[in-house]
Amino acid sequence: MQISEIRVDGYEKVVRCLDAATGLHALIAVHDTTLGPSLGGMRMLHYANEEEALFDVLRLSKGMTYKSAVADTGLGGGKSVVLGDPKNKSEALFAAMGRFVDSLGGKYITAEDMNIGIGDLLQVRKATKWVTGLSREQGGSGNPSPYTAHGAFHGMRAVLEERFGGPSFAGKRVLIQGVGAVGGRLAELLKGAGAHVTICDINEARVQELCNKHGYEGVADSKHLEVACDVYAPCARGATINDHTLPKLKCKAIAGVANNQLLEPRHGDALREKGILYAPDYVINAGGIINVSFELLPGGYDEARAVAKIERIYDNLKQVFAIAREQKVSTHIAADRLAEQRIAAGRKHAKV
Ligand code: NAD
Repeated sequence: MQISEIRVDGYEKVVRCLDAATGLHALIAVHDTTLGPSLGGMRMLHYANEEEALFDVLRLSKGMTYKSAVADTGLGGGKSVVLGDPKNKSEALFAAMGRFVDSLGGKYITAEDMNIGIGDLLQVRKATKWVTGLSREQGGSGNPSPYTAHGAFHGMRAVLEERFGGPSFAGKRVLIQGVGAVGGRLAELLKGAGAHVTICDINEARVQELCNKHGYEGVADSKHLEVACDVYAPCARGATINDHTLPKLKCKAIAGVANNQLLEPRHGDALREKGILYAPDYVINAGGIINVSFELLPGGYDEARAVAKIERIYDNLKQVFAIAREQKVSTHIAADRLAEQRIAAGRKHAKV
């Protein structure tokens, strides 16, 4: 196994692994460990070349630094990518990946991400203890989705206060795009709190089933932007806020869990100009990472403490909105500033 360093400005450590015996070609980026060891998922993709994989791992690891800083997980940001077709997985490949993760001595802690499942992580764990996100039976914190939904629900309370002057869901219309693991649970929480819930999904059978079961309103995914609502919650895929959708939006706030909702940062500014309050995705969807971070406590995972911290997504969003108001910037910029403030404070503390 050959491990070599790639020097990248602004990143603490970026390493490449080439292993002839197993065919492993992987990269790990540790962006910043000021606030703690870096944590971020492992993904496997058939990248066109290493440059493309490097771009991905750098972008994603930096994103994890910011997400963890605002969520106050006590962790830094990192990420890993395995280059290759997910169809060509083998136990030996992931055991080698485990040795690669282990070579960083805990500076990088891994978890599931695109095309990586619990079975793969179990192979990784044979070679390193720096693995999170396994099932409860395996000593992990289990499926993060209900926790992500719980956090988003509490984050929405802050959105309602900021946009409508009070935290009540009663009578508010919330439109959810994507009623999968997170969106489906979020819909239940919102309905329970008295919101009018409208749902859409490319899986129309699921929409029908949930409407019958819970009394939501369903709308065809192709027509969902025609629905006038108080809060629009993208919970399916990224880049839904773009030049094409912006003129059509009929919502007063956007608060959903999908990653990378803004196609480009300027779309966050456009939302502000339109008077639509945007809850930055990485702030409101941090319930899963907060939950996982509690696996690393000396005594092991503690659900009650994890849930209490997940509910502080409400406070984190309040801070983001306050920064946006005071500094007259869009909320996505305010979130980055809050992250940078916390990292700078951590750096200062470390020097004392
Ligand atoms: P999921 O796969 O369980 O659900 C996604 C749902 O969206 C599915 O029902 C799917 O049919 C639907 N969908 C997909 N493409 C669509 C489209 N073009 N239009 C309408 N509906 C579409 O995924 P999930 O775990 O619920 O995650 C949802 C989003 O939240 C993803 O973007 C994910 O990256 C992000 N996220 C999830 C978590 C988590 O804990 N699961 C944490 C942070 C962020």
